[in-house]
Amino acid sequence: MAQGNLYIISAPSGAGKSSLISALLKDNHKMKVSVSHTTRSPRPGEVEGEHYYFVSVEQFEQLIDNDVFLEYAKVFGGNYYGTSLPMIEKSLAQGIDVFLDIDWQGAQQIREKVPDVKSIFILPPSLVELERRLIGRGQDSEEVILDRMAKAQDEMSHYTEYDYVVVNDDFEQALTDIRHILSAEQLKTRTQSLRYQGLITELLAK
Ligand code: 5GP
Repeated sequence: MAQGNLYIISAPSGAGKSSLISALLKDNHKMKVSVSHTTRSPRPGEVEGEHYYFVSVEQFEQLIDNDVFLEYAKVFGGNYYGTSLPMIEKSLAQGIDVFLDIDWQGAQQIREKVPDVKSIFILPPSLVELERRLIGRGQDSEEVILDRMAKAQDEMSHYTEYDYVVVNDDFEQALTDIRHILSAEQLKTRTQSLRYQGLITELLAK
């Protein structure tokens, strides 16, 4: 069976990453998003096990000691965020593509461990629009928004480390761009030769 592809998708908060991932999941495609562990508190509407596994700092540090994480980092407001390995391995082995919605620090760690990971960076069309989206989603206080804006430029300065860059100005266009990336990756020789093993054997038989 073909092995699934592992994708990293990073962006500053407010660039529209979550909405793009949700839309991709609705496509007729075998795809999952890895659910991270975090020590931050749930926001209104966030569901345990769906958006994150919400744990205490003590629990998170225990998971670090138990080597559960493929990567982890202190990302925002001093909170830990981490990607656990078991679900990813299982899904990839079932031929399901897995998306990691993680920051640049996590992306660097994963590239070290999984060299053929594909990474996509989402940029907002402007700083003004980024701030407008952060205010518009009504999730954060004014103070947190200012902090997120400051961190956004730090996050965006890492865009060159990614394989692909998508500017989310028009949502549908950004979605189309990501679909094209996924399609191209599906057509890579290594993936195709696994998928069409039988055909290739037949075509090359003397
Ligand atoms: P938020 O608090 O808005 O849900 O997420 C803040 C940032 O943490 C986002 O940029 C998100 O991509 C990143 N993040 C979420 N889960 C993980 C993870 O497991 N590892 C790392 N390194 N970053 C993560």
